[in-house]
Parts: sequence; structure tokens; C-alpha cells
Amino acid sequence: MLVRRDSKTAANDLNTVYRPCTTDEVLGNKTNMNIIKRGLDSTNLAHTFLFTGDAGCGKTSAARIIALGLNCMKYDTSSSNPCLKCISCLSILNHNSIDVMEINVGQSGGKDAVDNIVRDLPSSPFNARYKVAIFDEAHKLTSAAQDLLLKVIEDGYKHVYFIFCTNQPEKLTDTFITRCNVMHFSRISENLILSILKNVAEFEGMNYNLDVLKNIASESRGIPRQALVWLKQVNDDGNWTIDSSNSIIGALSDEFETNTVDITKALLEGKFKEAVVIYDKLKKEIQAERIRISIVAYIIGCLKRSKNFSEGKKFSDILDILSSPIFEQGKLGDYKLYNYFFKIVCITKNK
Ligand SMILES: [Zn+2]
Repeated sequence: MLVRRDSKTAANDLNTVYRPCTTDEVLGNKTNMNIIKRGLDSTNLAHTFLFTGDAGCGKTSAARIIALGLNCMKYDTSSSNPCLKCISCLSILNHNSIDVMEINVGQSGGKDAVDNIVRDLPSSPFNARYKVAIFDEAHKLTSAAQDLLLKVIEDGYKHVYFIFCTNQPEKLTDTFITRCNVMHFSRISENLILSILKNVAEFEGMNYNLDVLKNIASESRGIPRQALVWLKQVNDDGNWTIDSSNSIIGALSDEFETNTVDITKALLEGKFKEAVVIYDKLKKEIQAERIRISIVAYIIGCLKRSKNFSEGKKFSDILDILSSPIFEQGKLGDYKLYNYFFKIVCITKNK
């Protein structure tokens, strides 16, 4: 269920105004939401969570939903259906609640910041029912900070809830992880992303082109936040064509461009395995076809700069290999690209 809410304080980008505020509003990750919903409604929610999963898949939203559900003043106890209108709800929504602390560990850094928070935890909440400490980028907690938090978690204050969010849980110590209730947030299906995009585009009165929405849904690879960022940019641009949407989507990821250049260089040096390793790290983010297009663009540049006939012939042969688009997605697309890689390496080794 998609709901639009303007925010008085935060930027009104699509991700902010369509951010889910109750468990029922979250699309995808239903098992997690049901556990949180039951915990809030039975006033039996675990006090320490570790939310894992890729950026943009709803970890922070879920943490805020817990904070709202625990503290809504419309009810005497926690509830999965916060009113979003009472003073407590509004202060959480506007990020000015003293008792709901969002700590970006990457920014606030090491143990000192954690020290200050931990020192203050034993005192009662200022005006909310519970204190909620949300740690973003929790993998950046130093081991000293993790040890300090472990002590507090084990002591267990009834009025304090901890939510740690990270996309790199492997960087946390095992002892720390075992003290948390771990919940993994998955990417959501392309169809679900498409339905979110369609709903938002209709809500916003956009003069949209369905094929462009499908393109965004496919390129966003299951990350709703990314999809909504692109939707806004495509709409601002106003040209609802596949080409213009591709230039917006492509223009955003410099890191991806660097990686494709590395793949192409590896192939030209005959290093098949190295190219495969780089691609394997990327493939969750990007379709094989996008890689093919980028490699083609790079090779055309090489062809233009080629110094003699045989060099030109080599690049032209490589372009022949890459001439058919990869329509297959997932593993089949990957296999086709690997095959292209191998054929390119054969050419570079022969010449
Ligand atoms: Zn409320």
C-alpha cells in the first residue's frame, strides 16, 4: 500500500514522501514485516535487531517503523498502527525526537560517539515511551565500540531498543552478531518495483511511458530507492524515451564505468579470468547487456585510435563478437557475456 505524505522539514523527494511508515505500507520483505508487526502488537518485540541487506532495501524505514510503533501516544502500549499525528509520532517523522536517536556510524565515527550515547541510556526517556537507538552503517563500529554496546545489550534496559543496520555484517564480530536478532532485507522483484513506479507516476500525474518505467524497474535491480531516484530524474528531464532514460541511468554510475573499463582492459590483455571476476562483482547491480554496450563503446574508441591495419582489424573483429544484444537476464545473460569475453580473449591471444 503506497501512501504519499509531504514532510515539513525534510526534502520532498519521492523517496521521502512515499517512505512507508507502518508495517502494512511496506512493499516486499513481508516475513520481516510480519514479525515486527506481531512483536509490536503483542508488546513482545525483541530489544536488539541487526538489519542486514543492500542499501535502499528498507532497513532504515523498518527501523523508523519500529520507533513509531513503540512510541505512538494514541495507544497505551506499542502498536503496529501508529497514528502519525500525535506529538511523539510527529517528532519521530520530523527527526527531532530526543529519544529516537539515529546515529550514522560512518559519520559520527568511533567509540567516543557511542560512549556518549551509552552513558545516557540508563536514564528514562525524555518524553517518549521508549528510547530507540538506530545505528546506520553499523559495520563501521570499532571493536571497542562493539564491546561497549555488547555490555549494554546484555544488561538489557527495558526502556531501550537497539537497531543496527548494515550492508556488510561480515565486518561485525561474531559475538556481536549472536547477541542480535538478525533480519535480512532482500531486494524486491522487478514486478513489484514496476507496480510501485506505476503507482507513483500516476499519483504524481506524470505523463509517463510504460516502456521507460519497465526500463527503470529492470535497471534498478530490486532496489526501490534507486528506482524512485531515477523516476524523478526522468520526469524532470521530460523526455520519456528509452534513450534519454538510459543516459540518466548510465550517467549516475561512474563506478560502473570504471569497472567496465577494467573489464575491457583485462580482455585486451588476454586475462579472461580477471574480467570474469570483475563482472561477477557487478552482475547483481547491472544487466549483462549494459556491460556489452559499454564494452562496445570502449572498443569503438580503440578502433578510431588504432595505429595500423592489423590493430584496426583486431578491434573490428571484437566488435563483430559483441554485435548481438544480450536479451537474456540473470544467469543466461551472464553465460552469454562470459562467452563473448572468451571469444575476445581468443582474438587478443591470436594477434
Ligand atoms: Zn502517534
